[in-house]
Amino acid sequence: MASTGKVRKARCQFTECASSLISVPAVDSKTTDRLIYFPGAIMEKYKIMETREGADAQKEYEFLVVPEFWDFDNIGVSRDLCQVTEDRDNAEFKFEWDGHTWELIHCQRYLACAECDRGPIGLLCEVQDANDHSSTRKICLLSIASVDCK
Ligand SMILES: [Zn+2]
Repeated sequence: MASTGKVRKARCQFTECASSLISVPAVDSKTTDRLIYFPGAIMEKYKIMETREGADAQKEYEFLVVPEFWDFDNIGVSRDLCQVTEDRDNAEFKFEWDGHTWELIHCQRYLACAECDRGPIGLLCEVQDANDHSSTRKICLLSIASVDCK
């Protein structure tokens, strides 16, 4: 298999922690559809932590789709349920992955660093097939802007 670009490593952004979270495909990788982009509104809506400046609604934010927990090296899941209520008509956050178009319909819990518990750095959520509303999956979405990734 030909390699396409360097694999990155996502770590906790707090240097005194820097716990390893997961391997992230390179931005230019052609072999993955696990890197997706959401409008800046997602950062505000779900109160996702960022590295630098406040959420920019004009900007698109990179997320990694993580279908299984054990894909992470380390991850923490909040005990708190997500404050944002279920939204079955929410086509606001749509993305292409695994040959389907998905809509984020229900955030259940937040992802945080397993070591220092800082976050949220992502969401544990339910997504629905935009073309078949009976088909849902539970996935993790890791916000690349919320971690140190290089
Ligand atoms: Zn940490």
